[in-house]
Amino acid sequence: MLENIVKHLDKVRKVGNEYRACCPVHDDNSPSMTLTEKDGKVLAYCFACGANGFDVVKALGLSVNEIFDRQMSSQEAKERKLRDTDIEDKFIISMFEKGEEAGERFSHKDYRRYRLAIYRQDLLTQMGENYGRQNSYIQKAG
Ligand SMILES: [Zn+2]
Repeated sequence: MLENIVKHLDKVRKVGNEYRACCPVHDDNSPSMTLTEKDGKVLAYCFACGANGFDVVKALGLSVNEIFDRQMSSQEAKERKLRDTDIEDKFIISMFEKGEEAGERFSHKDYRRYRLAIYRQDLLTQMGENYGRQNSYIQKAG
């Protein structure tokens, strides 16, 4: 499925298990977009305009299903969506850390995304702790 998307893009270059390519969402001359595949989902991020996988399939006129490994039930989709934020945030955080090591410069918009990702990761951790507490309470009560 990643290949299905990548074949529509320009100046594609494979770097490890990631692809670099021109972003189809904005007028891109040098590859600003990074694409990779994780847990059955295509992850994409454009460092120039902030586009993600959903923006890419929309811009290419492809189905949203192209970024998932198969069609999902609505319940699965809901659970997936919750997990996606987590996967995407981790992806953005790792992109930034790699970029910073390589001495790349980031825009204010990118930094905002990065901070938001970290904020959401913190929230998720807190939610996970609360969920655990609730469960142990229910077990005691039952
Ligand atoms: Zn872009």
